[in-house]
Amino acid sequence: MAAALREIERQVLGEIWTSDEPYRNLVHLCDGIGHRFGGSASEHAAAEFLERKLREYGLEQVRLEEFPVYSWERGECFFALSAPVERSFSALAMPYSGTADLEGVIVDVGAGEAEDFGRLGERVRGAIVLTDAESDVPGVERSHRADKYRRAVEAGAIACVFTNRNPGMLRITGALYARNPGGDAPLDHTAPIPGLGISYEAGEMIRRLAGLGELRGRIRARNRVFRSHAFNVVADVPGDGSTHQLVLAGAHYDGHDIAQGAIDNGAGAVVALELARVLAPHAGRFLRTVRLVWFACEELGLLGSWYHCDRYEHVDQNELLGFMLNLDGAGRGQGGSEQVTVTGDPALARYFSRLAEQLQYPFTVRDRISPHSDHFPFFLKGYPTATLQSRDATQGMIGRGWGHTEADTVDKVTQRGLQMSTALAARLLLRLASEEHLPASRRGSDEVRQVLVEAGLADVLEHHWGRANRIA
Ligand SMILES: [Zn+2]
Repeated sequence: MAAALREIERQVLGEIWTSDEPYRNLVHLCDGIGHRFGGSASEHAAAEFLERKLREYGLEQVRLEEFPVYSWERGECFFALSAPVERSFSALAMPYSGTADLEGVIVDVGAGEAEDFGRLGERVRGAIVLTDAESDVPGVERSHRADKYRRAVEAGAIACVFTNRNPGMLRITGALYARNPGGDAPLDHTAPIPGLGISYEAGEMIRRLAGLGELRGRIRARNRVFRSHAFNVVADVPGDGSTHQLVLAGAHYDGHDIAQGAIDNGAGAVVALELARVLAPHAGRFLRTVRLVWFACEELGLLGSWYHCDRYEHVDQNELLGFMLNLDGAGRGQGGSEQVTVTGDPALARYFSRLAEQLQYPFTVRDRISPHSDHFPFFLKGYPTATLQSRDATQGMIGRGWGHTEADTVDKVTQRGLQMSTALAARLLLRLASEEHLPASRRGSDEVRQVLVEAGLADVLEHHWGRANRIA
């Protein structure tokens, strides 16, 4: 590594380790501004805050990238059993759920995998489906909520109730998808059937009561889908001008309306903000421009990243995107168990494994395709991508841990966790911005398709839930 770059690295790391700026930013984002739900005034306020901070850090190329979205507002939600005993449960409507009054048999599909629905066949038609929100084993990811929901819709269910698998009386949330993608009325962007989130304890109780006789349930929900807009925030730390190729690091800054969204993904957003602060003084000193992007509306279906990714093809073809680093999940937890996940690319995995040795900072590297965060639109367009996350924040818990519940709060994040993720992200970006040749190049659409087919994920090419929520 060149001496000049090593000196930049020393200064950058010194700044990171002697500042509490990211923690203070997180507190402001979460305690001061709030949930930052996609398309809401809270999200707009967060975009303004990010822009103000970036200018304060001395960056000149900062812009808000506005795009239209359908947003959603919750109203009352009532869920009760009418048989075998009468009992009401605290429940949350999931984003894009509409307004409904319904009553029906409850059919428990357990994990909600394809084979579970297959086994129950026609019994699901006309019924309220009860399913696990996530896989039942810590560290294991199987079907996404949207997959289970789609199975319920296709099987003719009238509602889908998701039970959290982590104890703590925490109702789980997560956006659903539009009933008529591409339509231009709020009803088109309302989910085909209501989706509800209940706690682990409620789900377990309902399952015990099933032993007493047929389960029947009642749902009353009042919600509103409305047209709004959102902003990606984009800031460049310019390179030395010798190439149009740039490297991008992005973090979604939106959250769910019921939570502070500190671990998902306030932490990643302030890690990106800290990268801006520490890299800004070194503008013009790397080969490639480092572009930092704060994505809006990730939780509503990756809406900000779909929008931003499209720009490289349709708006500014002069800008060549060389690499995308996703920071969804960075900075949460205690720090020290960072993980880089590449997306169906063994050569890239080898590159990062080598870096883990060279940096004298061990982090784990894995190769796994997840269609459920902001790297995915970039992956589909063939760009090399990786996601940096802190693993310890969900250790021993199912799936997202506190994420997507009211317990996703600032107290789950530590200053050290933010510092360690920022330090690693900065070192990775410094190399990616300075390597003579990037470790991977853009793939064609046939190659991407092949990678997806081999991973058993070919169906996301036909329907990705988030795409349905976009405004074309
Ligand atoms: Zn996230």
